[in-house]
Amino acid sequence: MTELRAPVSVLRAGLLCRCPRCGQGRLFTDIVHFLRVAQSCEVCGLDLRPEDSGDGPAVFVMFVTGPLVVALAILFEVLVGPPLWLHALLWIPTILLASIALLRPLKGVLIALQYRHRAGEGGKNTFT
Ligand SMILES: [Zn+2]
Repeated sequence: MTELRAPVSVLRAGLLCRCPRCGQGRLFTDIVHFLRVAQSCEVCGLDLRPEDSGDGPAVFVMFVTGPLVVALAILFEVLVGPPLWLHALLWIPTILLASIALLRPLKGVLIALQYRHRAGEGGKNTFT
């Protein structure tokens, strides 16, 4: 029996790390295995095993954090003119924390986009 559902927002499901089909089940297993996708959705039963977003999330994290941190560092340099050690002390942890914080949501968005557009190897939707 197939149940019709209202489409789930790709951004909402992805950013909240929820199932791309129902928007309620958790997408990732737990906090220890930070980027491991769950076997299936605990709410709707969507099989998430074939999912593979590859290096996509890391690339988008670099696209977001890189320009943002560089712009902030330049602004900080122009306005305050701090010594170089203060730049290192400030921006290295900022880059690390921002990258870690963005990895899961961006991976969730990519998985939701793959599900929405039925992306898969050879054009086949690998979600069942
Ligand atoms: Zn689900």
